[in-house]
Amino acid sequence: GMGEVGDAQNVPIFAVGGFVRDLLLGKENLDIDLVIEGDGIAFAREYCRRHPCRVRTHAKFGTAVIIFPDGFKVDIASARMEYYHEPGALPNVEHASIKLDLYRRDFTINTLALALNGPEKGALLDFFGAQRDLQDKVLRVLHNLSFVEDSTRVFRAIRFEQRLGFHIGLQTEQLLRSALRMGFVEKVGGPRLFNELAQILKESNPLPAVERMAELGLLPYIHSRLTLPPRVKSLFAEASRAIHWYELLYTGEPCQGWLVYFLCLTSGLDEESLEELNRRLGIPSRHGVILGEQRREVHRLQRFFERRWGRGRPLRPVELHARLSPLATEALLYLMARVDNDEVRSWVSYFYTALRKAAPLLSGDELKALGIPPGPLYKKILKTLLDARLNGKVASREDEIVLVK
Ligand code: ATP
Repeated sequence: GMGEVGDAQNVPIFAVGGFVRDLLLGKENLDIDLVIEGDGIAFAREYCRRHPCRVRTHAKFGTAVIIFPDGFKVDIASARMEYYHEPGALPNVEHASIKLDLYRRDFTINTLALALNGPEKGALLDFFGAQRDLQDKVLRVLHNLSFVEDSTRVFRAIRFEQRLGFHIGLQTEQLLRSALRMGFVEKVGGPRLFNELAQILKESNPLPAVERMAELGLLPYIHSRLTLPPRVKSLFAEASRAIHWYELLYTGEPCQGWLVYFLCLTSGLDEESLEELNRRLGIPSRHGVILGEQRREVHRLQRFFERRWGRGRPLRPVELHARLSPLATEALLYLMARVDNDEVRSWVSYFYTALRKAAPLLSGDELKALGIPPGPLYKKILKTLLDARLNGKVASREDEIVLVK
């Protein structure tokens, strides 16, 4: 349908970037980016007039997002037109405007454009040797100032390298290292840096990328005290295990794996340094509790649990419940990663699977029906019932009624 609207408006439409890259690599990618050689906003509006979808536009950037009823989105950009709208300029036979658009991208492998309409429909535009680099599995920037122009590309290079199993080209690595030396990465704003770091930690196995960051000397740019000793590396491996374990439970409650990895990465920082880092990165305050209070509690619990284990005294369900139920899933997984003893780890998994959702079967209304007047006593009774359940002393409603009486 897009092609027809483009044909009707007489504007060439191209699929570009990651979508085309992944198409050639045979990988699934549902993020579709289109570039219109013309007015992308007008195109998006016209498309939505003819199809059941919504459009959001950003006039300042000439971009739009088409949102389909099922939530599927397509990003639309306008290739700059000013170059051939000047009086006397040549018509756009060489696709100068889309070429210019693609030239502003990060790596050659992201510069492919696939024509979706017009006489060239189906043609692949490859101005910068992207197909060759895909073949050679190499990441190359388009020009020498690329990392200087936008230092977040340093992190993107590392992320793509690990994700795609490519390697950063020799000259590109030299440019990257010199951008670091010249202090350009230091100037990346906190929130942008946070975004790049989170993207890396959201990859399915982030450790190799973090190791590469360490190797290139990037960690001190995140925080001056941040390092990657063997202890932290094995923490990442344990966190992977814990996260996979959690995913296999299919609780239906999503867990933010990247936050668990972030806790691992920063596990060696003292509280003050971590707070400093959180402030600088502008980490959203909803994560603050986990990175502050809960992290402190996890460190304390780890020592406490291991001590109890060392004395041959497993924790009783009531104690486990009392200590672990205030913690977010991410903090619990971090705790599982930290304890270096399978038995102790199984206490945490036992809590998660068997105890976390435990509650008395009787409700307040039922207590009332039993003739107990509502009041502060209820809280006590419900707590007693919960403890009895956790200890396996009651198993049914009837048991609870007997206990209440
Ligand atoms: P992913 O699967 O991670 O989404 P992607 O290639 O689609 O991979 P995005 O971050 O969604 O990556 O970016 C979309 C496109 O925008 C990329 O293909 C890239 O060409 C371009 N791009 C994104 N960030 C930059 C940047 N900092 N500098 C230049 N181009 C960028």
